[in-house]
Amino acid sequence: MNYNKKSIEDIEVAGKRVLCRCDFNVPTKEGRITSDKRIVAALPTIEYLVNKGAKVILCSHMGKPKGEWKPELSLKVVADRLSELLGKEVIMAADVAGEDAKAKAAALKDGDVMLLENTRYIKGETKNDPELSKDLASMADIFVNDAFGTAHRAHSSTAGVADYLPAVSGYLVQKEVSIMGKALANPERPFVAILGGAKVSDKLNVINNLLEKVDTLIIGGGMAYTFLAAQGYTVGKSLVDNEKLDYCKEMMAKAQAKGVKMLLPVDTAIASAFPSPIDAEIAVDYVDCTAIPEDQMGLDIGPKACAEFAAAAKAAKTVVWNGPMGVFENPVLNKGTIAVAQALADSDAVTIVGGGDSAAACEQLGFAGSITHISTGGGASLEFLEGLELPGIACLEDK
Ligand code: ADP
Ligand code: MG
Repeated sequence: MNYNKKSIEDIEVAGKRVLCRCDFNVPTKEGRITSDKRIVAALPTIEYLVNKGAKVILCSHMGKPKGEWKPELSLKVVADRLSELLGKEVIMAADVAGEDAKAKAAALKDGDVMLLENTRYIKGETKNDPELSKDLASMADIFVNDAFGTAHRAHSSTAGVADYLPAVSGYLVQKEVSIMGKALANPERPFVAILGGAKVSDKLNVINNLLEKVDTLIIGGGMAYTFLAAQGYTVGKSLVDNEKLDYCKEMMAKAQAKGVKMLLPVDTAIASAFPSPIDAEIAVDYVDCTAIPEDQMGLDIGPKACAEFAAAAKAAKTVVWNGPMGVFENPVLNKGTIAVAQALADSDAVTIVGGGDSAAACEQLGFAGSITHISTGGGASLEFLEGLELPGIACLEDK
């Protein structure tokens, strides 16, 4: 995939109708936004377009209405908050690409901002229905994609609409693509990838591509135990994907053949059960990974692994991290995640964090400010690292 894509600065937007796909999929509770982070993150692109005198038509999905008009998933709350942040009116359309949206889009003046309703109110959105793509495109002259979190989906508002309009990236997508694209295409070495977390089957696929790129691959978190099991160790009640044992063996052989150093935890925190609630007080022991008892489960990497992983991360010039090293939500089981986050924060390497929980961990633990780039897209950043083509990026014009 070509990562060198045109951005809003490479196209004339003054006086043009610009359809901009944002990520306004904000968390809400009882009709109120509980974090406006994603709206704030979208401001640079929106303000650029407004200041240039574009007629700005924003769109996004929120939640999973699956083609049903669920009032609790209306983007009206986003329009209200965005209007406060911009200090100007945000015109709310009553539909997605229907009569009301089209009439309001046609009446926009230069510098006006409007927001369409939740794109997933329309069934065609997630099917990348050309009818919806055409309807969306008919309101605009230019398409801007500024939603990285959905860039791995070929939906009407993320990719399909680009079949009918010139398409460029917004600032958020541009930053994601340039930083992660460079790390993959032309990394400063040593290049170290650290994988962890719980979505083992999803994440194992990324290893094959990373082994082509990295000097060291570190595997911790819930992912490590499938590798340990593949090596023939007993992992007790730990998280294991039994269908991936052969794949793990293949990956270990591939690492060896390629001269890539693969680090698995040498020790682990164990307990008899997963903490419930997740932050409940819990008694843990630390054992070597060769000695996990049958009735125990591994819930964090141990102190030796912390030191080894941190040292490898500190020696790197590029680090990509996806997935916590343990059940970081629990104050007893966050040691491995803290050790890795601390190593990234202390390093002067280019440090990239992907994955929703990994990003949350960096923030909760106070390391976010010291990381080069925290990706806004969990699934999208993972597919990016897998080397897959992301439809929402591929559809943008090359520079
Ligand atoms: P991300 O959102 O960063 O991509 P995942 O969703 O894959 O990460 O995994 C995050 C979750 O993994 C966390 O909720 C954490 O509690 C869990 N986790 C980490 N290590 C383990 C483990 N050893 N056993 C079970 N769950 C784990
Ligand atoms: Mg997650």
